[in-house]
Amino acid sequence: MSDTIAAIATGNVVSAIGIIRISGKIAITASDNFFRAASGIKLENAENKRMYYGEFRDLNNYLIDLCLCTVSKAPDSYTGEDTVEFHCHGSPVLLSEILSALFSMGIRQALPGEFSKRAFLNGRMDLTQAEAVIDLIEAETPVAAQNAAGQLRGTVRKKILSVYDRLIDITAHFHAVIDYPDEDIDEFKIEKYIDMLQSMNNELQGMLETHDRGKILQTGIPTVIIGRPNTGKSSLLNALLGYERAIVTDIAGTTRDTIEEKIITGNVLLRLIDTAGLRKPGDSIEELGVEKTIAALNNAGLVILVLDGSEPLKSEDYIALRSIPPDIPKIAVVNKSDLPAALSSGDLCDLDINYCTISALSGEGLNVLDEKIQNLFPEFEKTTAHGASAGELLTNTRQAEAISRASDNIKSAIKALSGSLTPDAVLIDIESALAALGEVTGKTIREDIVSRIFERFCVGK
Ligand code: GDP
Repeated sequence: MSDTIAAIATGNVVSAIGIIRISGKIAITASDNFFRAASGIKLENAENKRMYYGEFRDLNNYLIDLCLCTVSKAPDSYTGEDTVEFHCHGSPVLLSEILSALFSMGIRQALPGEFSKRAFLNGRMDLTQAEAVIDLIEAETPVAAQNAAGQLRGTVRKKILSVYDRLIDITAHFHAVIDYPDEDIDEFKIEKYIDMLQSMNNELQGMLETHDRGKILQTGIPTVIIGRPNTGKSSLLNALLGYERAIVTDIAGTTRDTIEEKIITGNVLLRLIDTAGLRKPGDSIEELGVEKTIAALNNAGLVILVLDGSEPLKSEDYIALRSIPPDIPKIAVVNKSDLPAALSSGDLCDLDINYCTISALSGEGLNVLDEKIQNLFPEFEKTTAHGASAGELLTNTRQAEAISRASDNIKSAIKALSGSLTPDAVLIDIESALAALGEVTGKTIREDIVSRIFERFCVGK
């Protein structure tokens, strides 16, 4: 980590502002070769975290840009190292010229996620916070961003550390009693420790219970569109997406496979799965499609049943309705409202399903569908700006898996204590729980896993 790294933090696109970030031992001295502050101050003597206006000139004194520069001195910076940021005009050509100038001083190109990796290795953030950084950058809905921001502030870390510290206390007491039997140490009260472990396990279980909702927040609600052929499923998908993705024809059975797209309706992220529809299989390719439909229905978080409002209900409509597994939220979309209606509200009431009338062709009624979907998924509503719940949903599967292992170890420790097993057996379980929790925060994690986590980041982050 002794070398100094630099990267364009704002991506290789034309934009109003482009930021170059430099971190490492020579970040400040190298930058002093190029930056002429209007005030005349050298960056070496610059005030920490203050912005200076000036010129960036190359070694031949050619002007490259008029820009702003900030110095953040170690350890009080994102990476924990000396850091310099140049806020330039956002031209990729200009930014790459600045990078080349810096590279000529022995600074090298940063790898993806290297700034954040340094922040983690220098103890500026734990792994849950580092993973929140990438979740925040990649968030697809306002509420997913809010949850990630909460985790960046340390929601997951605090909960894990609280359990970790109590486990350490128990371990220390155990060791003291075993190793120093003659000392006057508080007696080891099994009942008390069982209670403590039980409450820690409840806390971990509470976190794990949020994981399903957390995953949906990030990946979207798996939404299956079903209905008999030609009701307008593909047209609805396209209308929601706003562009042609599925092939729309009036020959029954065109949609032979499932296709997936993400859309946001209001604040809700839907992972839309268009399917071959539920019909009697006509040929082997379609059979495959129908099988996929059934599998998709079983894993759905929302089912949209498309009916053709210009035709009376047919037996296949009822088959489609009955195919929706119970307990899965569902909405019927009565399509083709631009054509004369053949379905009465009485027909639709008999179906006993929440419905709205739309025209996939003209887009009429899509806003009502949006509203209905939003009402079904209130978890996608943002919480109050300073609400305690920001960051409460466990989104990260790696973290969830390690927490689940820690919970199993704690349960096993409780069993060992209740069954009066030897203290050694209990200690082994508690130490395994500690190791698993250490993986969540990054305290006890292998280097290769750390590298894999930071490879997901973009360059400059
Ligand atoms: P799918 O088989 O259910 O996927 O149905 P498609 O989306 O392929 O649509 C079947 C036919 O219905 C096509 O000719 C579409 O243009 C037509 N269609 C779809 N939505 C509407 C609509 O809202 N109004 C009208 N008039 N025609 C529609």
